[in-house]
Amino acid sequence: MSNYLDSWRELPAAQQPEWPDRGELDKVVAELSVLPPLVFAGECDNLKAELAAVTRGEAFVLQGGDCAETFAGATADGVRNKLKTLLQMAIVLTYAGRVPVVKIGRIAGQFAKPRSKGTEVRNGVELPAYRGDMVNGFDFTPESRIPNPERLLRAYHSSAVTLNLVRAFTKGGYADLRQVHAWNQDFVSESPAGKRYERLAREIDQALAFMHACGADPAEFHGVEFYSSHEALILDYDRALTRVDSRTGEPYDVSAHMVWIGERTRQLDSAHVEFFSRIRNPIGVKLGPTTTAEDALALVDKLNPDNEPGRLTFITRMGASKIREHLPALVEKVTANGAQIAWICDPMHGNTFEAPSGHKTRRLDDVLDEVAGFFEVHRELGTHPGGIHIEFTGDDVTECVGGAYEIAEDDLALRYETACDPRLNRSQSLDMAFRVAELYRS
Ligand code: PEP
Ligand code: MN
Repeated sequence: MSNYLDSWRELPAAQQPEWPDRGELDKVVAELSVLPPLVFAGECDNLKAELAAVTRGEAFVLQGGDCAETFAGATADGVRNKLKTLLQMAIVLTYAGRVPVVKIGRIAGQFAKPRSKGTEVRNGVELPAYRGDMVNGFDFTPESRIPNPERLLRAYHSSAVTLNLVRAFTKGGYADLRQVHAWNQDFVSESPAGKRYERLAREIDQALAFMHACGADPAEFHGVEFYSSHEALILDYDRALTRVDSRTGEPYDVSAHMVWIGERTRQLDSAHVEFFSRIRNPIGVKLGPTTTAEDALALVDKLNPDNEPGRLTFITRMGASKIREHLPALVEKVTANGAQIAWICDPMHGNTFEAPSGHKTRRLDDVLDEVAGFFEVHRELGTHPGGIHIEFTGDDVTECVGGAYEIAEDDLALRYETACDPRLNRSQSLDMAFRVAELYRS
């Protein structure tokens, strides 16, 4: 099994850190290899079954969270606010969109970032790029930017505490449907989307009271299934957390329920694709605007040779101006081939631009337009628009422009807190959920 899981080591692995001391890395990897799993293989299979329903057109994925989680961000408030936002979005989609929602966080492991440039220049000083808290520090100093393998261990422990809290929140009463109002009791309740949400929550209350009067009180009302996911970029980390499942004898990456391959590491002969072909989790691949149908079909052959529904999700990230042109041929040819795929839309990564102030940002209108294009293309082809993959935070940041609570380019400096890409804030996320629910039902 160990050869089977290490075949990727012979292949080119892009975006890996240059660890200064291989011995240190080996020590950390040995330690990670015997630490307990963060998730169970059976839970990964449950997610796979839910994603199979998405593939059949019977459910919708809501996947989201930070672009880059930070160790400092793993606080009770930080985790609760993200979860709250995701639960609010999910309730809007379920109620207004009338569709079961598969809830997946970009959380409890999203600590590594691929970078388009290996270095960063500020005021004439050039240093190695920040590659996520799992690799090096965000501070712009030479010491902080040196990759440190101890950070892999910290990423594991930070994921563990985050997931522990998420499990407590989702199973311990906080995600109970009777809490729909409580999720809205803070700054967001005053925003236009927050008010719209409050009206929806009142309708849900009435429906619950009616059901209760009828004697119905199903377990589904008292908690939610919630799954973790991250880009499995640093292969030494994800390999060290791969375990053979005692039930089936099959290997699973137990650092998260779902893992995905990024746009920069999805080459067919890459170490990433090879590693992913060996694990049994549900997996995703990001597909940008240069992806050809042949690329997509070759990925299907390599990553899902048995055509198992729920195993493979394609996360398209084309950009609002390109999706209507590039997505149709991709979906059409993959579908014609008979491939069982869940298609979901990442409307963030193809719509990033630099504001005059120098902040990396995204316009909510572009994000929504890409989602609208995604729905149009799938409706035209008779395929299922299976979900969205977004970058958001539960906090009141000013990183993306637009929204009913208008954030202008001049406002970006107010609370620009992301460690990497710009995220939707709470009220922008809610705006988006209402819009997506309308698109789903139309
Ligand atoms: C990301 O999801 O943060 C990311 C880097 O995306 P992509 O691989 O699509 O560029
Ligand atoms: Mn990102």
